[in-house]
Amino acid sequence: MERHFPIVLFVVNVILIFVSLNNLVIIHELLKKHRIEGYFRYVDDILVVYNDDNTNIYNVLEDFNNLAPKLKFTLDEEQNNQISFLDITIKKDQKGLLFEVYRKPSTTDIIIPNDSCHPIEHKTAAIRYYRIRLDTYRLTPENRKKEKETIRQILANNKYDAHPIEMLHRKRRQNHNVQKQKWAKFTYIGKETRFITKLFKDTNVRITFTTNNTIGKRLAMEQKTPQCKYDKSGVYQLTCPNCKMKYTGQTGRPFTVRFQEHIRDLKYNNSRAKFAQHLIDNKHAIRNMEDIMEIVHVTGKGKKLDALESFHIYKEAKARNQINDKLMVRGNELFETIIQQDPCEGCTAPQQQNTQK
Ligand SMILES: [Zn+2]
Repeated sequence: MERHFPIVLFVVNVILIFVSLNNLVIIHELLKKHRIEGYFRYVDDILVVYNDDNTNIYNVLEDFNNLAPKLKFTLDEEQNNQISFLDITIKKDQKGLLFEVYRKPSTTDIIIPNDSCHPIEHKTAAIRYYRIRLDTYRLTPENRKKEKETIRQILANNKYDAHPIEMLHRKRRQNHNVQKQKWAKFTYIGKETRFITKLFKDTNVRITFTTNNTIGKRLAMEQKTPQCKYDKSGVYQLTCPNCKMKYTGQTGRPFTVRFQEHIRDLKYNNSRAKFAQHLIDNKHAIRNMEDIMEIVHVTGKGKKLDALESFHIYKEAKARNQINDKLMVRGNELFETIIQQDPCEGCTAPQQQNTQK
């Protein structure tokens, strides 16, 4: 007797209605009527196992489609004695059923890469999932070996070393014994975050991480049309075309807007405007924004902006090359250290700054 199974019925878009039908009894009756041997449902996928001698699957499909007018079931039959259901491929064999991990052809095998700025807990989530699946699914030794190799390949593609990952899986289990009552959430920005969260090690606070470095945000950023750098805000420098002395300024508004103000200061002889005054006093000329305005840092308003501005004023003052108010510059040990260690520090190109946000 030939056993003909399995069959998958796909429900399209309507699973919520399906569940709300509260028709478990109806389905039970239906399965009994058609002498279905196995029925497994997960969200919108249903796997049906039946015997060809007792069941006409097309009658089953018709009955399912009559359950509710809005429900449309379609049918996928086994091909070459095998069928895929969720993440497994089930194969018929003389010995019985064989299972293999199934990956859709569209699977890209991308997980959070090892060098991405994410907490290790997030990075290992996908790996742990692969491990658990490998350990719990009833794979044949052959398929298990194959799956292990696939995992190893995925890890390698995402710049992981396969061996410590196996250790990690076990270590995690042990940590579960510790009684922790409270949760605290930290935004992970790198190893600095870890320095802070380590302080909670022997407390009853469990740490969880969130990250701003999400695919959604990265994609949203990449899709934006490249903005002109002068439409942004941050720290800028104006270089006098004649004597090459520099004025450092900051703005929380677009650089273009701020530049127009400098022009206006010059036009109306604003005595409090340092750059305009420098040009007037020395009879030095103004030029186009693109010629004399350099974007030093692209950043939003705030303490970072203030600090960056101070740093650049300090740096130019040290080089006796600044137009800003001389009184603004006071000795600063930190700035001094930065300048000594790397004279180019703080000269990051604006574009580079931008990608970090
Ligand atoms: Zn000048």
